[in-house]
Amino acid sequence: MKMFDPHIHMTSRTTDDYERMAAAGIVAVLEPAFWLGQPRTQVGTFVDYFSSLIGWERFRASQFGIAHVCTIALNPKEANDSRLADSVLELLPRFLDKDGVVGVGEIGYDDVTAAEERVFARQLEIAKELKLPALVHTPHRDKKKGTERSLALVKDVGIDESWVLIDHNNEETLPLVKKTGCWAGHSIYPDTKMTEERMVDLLKKYGTERMVVNSAADWGKSDPLKVPKTAQAMRAAGFSESDIETVVFENPVSFFERSGKLDRSSLKGRQIDQSQLFEGNSVLRGQSPVREVRE
Ligand SMILES: [Zn+2]
Repeated sequence: MKMFDPHIHMTSRTTDDYERMAAAGIVAVLEPAFWLGQPRTQVGTFVDYFSSLIGWERFRASQFGIAHVCTIALNPKEANDSRLADSVLELLPRFLDKDGVVGVGEIGYDDVTAAEERVFARQLEIAKELKLPALVHTPHRDKKKGTERSLALVKDVGIDESWVLIDHNNEETLPLVKKTGCWAGHSIYPDTKMTEERMVDLLKKYGTERMVVNSAADWGKSDPLKVPKTAQAMRAAGFSESDIETVVFENPVSFFERSGKLDRSSLKGRQIDQSQLFEGNSVLRGQSPVREVRE
């Protein structure tokens, strides 16, 4: 079965991860721009980071037969840096216009500060103006309040709810999102926050409509195979192949396809040619290049 992980930070992952993901059926990934674990001190580092998401990282994924798209935004944590926030916001339209950029994200609240709210609202407005989907991160602390405020802000800004994906849901926040027209994302983590089994229970209770699953794998303890593992858990619980495909492929493709920059026909029969170079650089270290078409 073809799968799409619609929230994973591949910049932090290895080529072994790409190989294991491709072998497990992942044909496409979406990498949201995020916080790198250490505060950036200059706007130029955002320019280079955004450029690497649409350049080198997309190339690196292609070398393993995986389509790579991204969303671009100022992340909630760094929205609090008043020296940088406005300059980064000014960069966004230029990057949001590029090929492979299928939305504005990840945006939202971290500590639920006034500075975060201003940047979050502005980026929802940008998504609305540019007719792009918005990917909204919900905070890990005081998640319920953060989710309620996120949904209220979506209403205030007046962006069409069906263009908004509220991510990192759990049993407490999903009922709030289901009362709106927003899509619901779920990040499956090793041991904490949300597991495959709990996800299966949520799917039994709420169905598959507008439901999305991702690994949110990054530089922290996380697992880039959580989407295929959730598909397996759904199968073991008796879900049909078509229901599984809805959650792990159709839903995220349908949501981000509305950007006009995600072509579902490009997600099958992908060609791998590891003899290719990106600005003179290869992912190989003397190994013989693989050249094949993956169906
Ligand atoms: Zn993330």
